[in-house]
Amino acid sequence: MSDRDNGTAKLGNSPKPDDGISDGRQASEKGAPVSFTQGDFEVSVLTDGYISVPGEIFAPDLEVEARQTALSHMKVQNGEVHAQANIPLFRSRRDVILFDIGAGGGYQPSDGLLQQSLSAVEVSTASITKIVFTHAHPDHIAATLAADGTLRFPNATYFVGSAEWDFWMDPDFFNKAPLALHDFGRGAQRDLGAIEERIVLIKPGDDVMTGIRAIATPGHTPGHLSFEVSGGEGLIIAGDTATSEFVSLEHPGWRFGYDVLPEIAIESRQRLLDRATHDRCKMLGFHWNYPGVGFGQRAGTAYRFIPS
Ligand SMILES: [Zn+2]
Repeated sequence: MSDRDNGTAKLGNSPKPDDGISDGRQASEKGAPVSFTQGDFEVSVLTDGYISVPGEIFAPDLEVEARQTALSHMKVQNGEVHAQANIPLFRSRRDVILFDIGAGGGYQPSDGLLQQSLSAVEVSTASITKIVFTHAHPDHIAATLAADGTLRFPNATYFVGSAEWDFWMDPDFFNKAPLALHDFGRGAQRDLGAIEERIVLIKPGDDVMTGIRAIATPGHTPGHLSFEVSGGEGLIIAGDTATSEFVSLEHPGWRFGYDVLPEIAIESRQRLLDRATHDRCKMLGFHWNYPGVGFGQRAGTAYRFIPS
């Protein structure tokens, strides 16, 4: 997500994680994380906490009353949606893989819990072999560096979409991009720059490894990728292609306020939801209510979410 419409002023006044709203952090503290088998992988959905997103970002083109109705299924407090940060950990015989790594406490006070979530399942940061990024927004990648400036996941290979790399790492980025994206640009350049020697650039259709393939879902950011995981009817790691299991599925044609390229994001969203629904493929949404795993079901020209 981006906060280009709101600046980073929220950093100081976001609610603390102990605000009483049930979230992934509390779910994972209560016991083992939600886990399931997908193809060759044992999947555990970890949490990085949540980020607070103004409700209007989910429906910027609606009047206040209509927006309140649209957001009625979401966790909203003081007008802000608590958007969860669900991070799937994949374990196979050879690999320990994360899809996105959260913000490391560097974006909002309520994020940065991944390391704690990993400890709870007895996985060390040094044991992560592969990290797969959907895109380079801070809530997905700002945990790259630990507080001492070293790599938090020192032994991982990092998979990044080549279009995503080209967008953020463009030497002319700060002349081309709107001012509102400059903070994120500085963060992305810091984090992607730090892992440059460990990066594998990938394109849609490429395999990260056998059973995990990149899907083109540009729009939220220019190089945003989702990933399909084989096994059964399949699993799609949707990233921020659909930021709410309610609004994005029930109103896939609505603009999302943080999309860099909103019209292209809508096309990607509709295409991905169409495919997942048609194939009866499970989806995992980064910002959906923990654990963010379920199916889309056709409902007229839109979809409804069925938790798995
Ligand atoms: Zn996000």
